[in-house]
Amino acid sequence: MVVMKFGGSSVADAQRIRHVVEIVKTQLERKPVLVLSAMGDTTDHLLEAGNDAFQKGVALIERIEKHHFDTIKKLKLPGHVQKETAALLKELERLLAGISLIREMTPRTKDFLVSFGERLSVRIAAAYCNSLKIKAAACDAWDIGFISDSNFTSAELVKKSWELIPEKILPLLKTGVVPIVTGFIARDHNGNITTLGRGGSDLSATMIAAACKAEEVQVWKDVDGILTADPRIVTNAQPVESVTYEEAAELAYFGAQVLHPRAMQPCIKTGTPVLVKNSYNITAPGTRISAALQKKSTPVRAITFRRKVTLVDIVSTRMLGQYGFLAEVFSGFARHNISVDMVATSEVSVSLTLDAAHDLAVLKKDLARIASVDIKTDKAIVTIVGNVKRSSEILARAFRTCQLIGVSVQMVSQGASKVNISFIVNDTEAVEVVKALHLDFFADQGSQK
Ligand code: ASP
Ligand code: MG
Repeated sequence: MVVMKFGGSSVADAQRIRHVVEIVKTQLERKPVLVLSAMGDTTDHLLEAGNDAFQKGVALIERIEKHHFDTIKKLKLPGHVQKETAALLKELERLLAGISLIREMTPRTKDFLVSFGERLSVRIAAAYCNSLKIKAAACDAWDIGFISDSNFTSAELVKKSWELIPEKILPLLKTGVVPIVTGFIARDHNGNITTLGRGGSDLSATMIAAACKAEEVQVWKDVDGILTADPRIVTNAQPVESVTYEEAAELAYFGAQVLHPRAMQPCIKTGTPVLVKNSYNITAPGTRISAALQKKSTPVRAITFRRKVTLVDIVSTRMLGQYGFLAEVFSGFARHNISVDMVATSEVSVSLTLDAAHDLAVLKKDLARIASVDIKTDKAIVTIVGNVKRSSEILARAFRTCQLIGVSVQMVSQGASKVNISFIVNDTEAVEVVKALHLDFFADQGSQK
């Protein structure tokens, strides 16, 4: 068994859906389970409609309606699909009318609202497969065991799902059917629809693969896998052949938007490999994410960065060796609900980074009792993901590169994660630093292009 996940752009219209089914056809004997996102930008369109209903008291779904009916027509699907689609769209209209009327949109309502995207796309794709005599069944996630907590808009699947999912999926596969499952959504114990967070269908796919002990899970994207850097910045960014789960998770968190950061979790438990493939370039090998690297690899896997970061330097005004300083500092951040990203400490000071969005005035006042606080905005975190066992080599090369281009590094953090070395530079310098580092670490690969 293999799980194949296709995101919104891969199922954006009739032509793309045909292409997806062509890809699936080549793997029928491997017993595929499909996980799909909503078509194209449907999730965004649903959210816009919800906002209009909430704010203006009217919402039109013509765009969503037209796109789905057009696709059905272009794929020449039978009448029952039209009917099912119309019924779902009617339900959607009723929901929007409700939102308009009471002018309220809770996270629960929002999840119910966006669920229509995936519920529509799987029905269309399954009907198309059946029209080609590929036996397929559209499955709403809750019917195949996706139960979550009630943390609407970023729900977590409950433990029981690990048992329920294979119980439902494996018998279906035995009958020779291709299950086509809604990504992104689940239901809580009370039967309310929940979502796993934006981009969450990656997690739906890895969950099915891990719970059913699939051979692998393929995540089909529109890039050749995980790249050594953001291709919009580094023109000769290369696909990375293989990375570990840990490296992939770090990359997802630090801005390489290839996989949902939480998506790796189920596969880490079972060791199920994740393959990131390009649906526009099927023959490209893609990136393999697994527990161990396949062969002896270069020290650095990829370079990413995150902009608009604030650096806070906190220096204790108390004596050296005073205990409880860090505890007080961090409880200050906790009290103000500010999440801290990177941290570096010395005996009497601590430097940390935050997303720029936070208002720090109150916190600064709060901490003034014990420390002097210096807030520096417009910074960026540059992250090198790779083999930290070779950190001395990586750091030496990174610092030399920064020195060569006249950039001073303002904070460094390495150690907590075994795969990530991060440092802070000015936001205006970040792009240049990433380019220079990429040139240094990947020069050989770049020149092959
Ligand atoms: N359709 C959802 C989104 O756009 C989930 C996904 O695509 O993974 O976020
Ligand atoms: Mg999407």
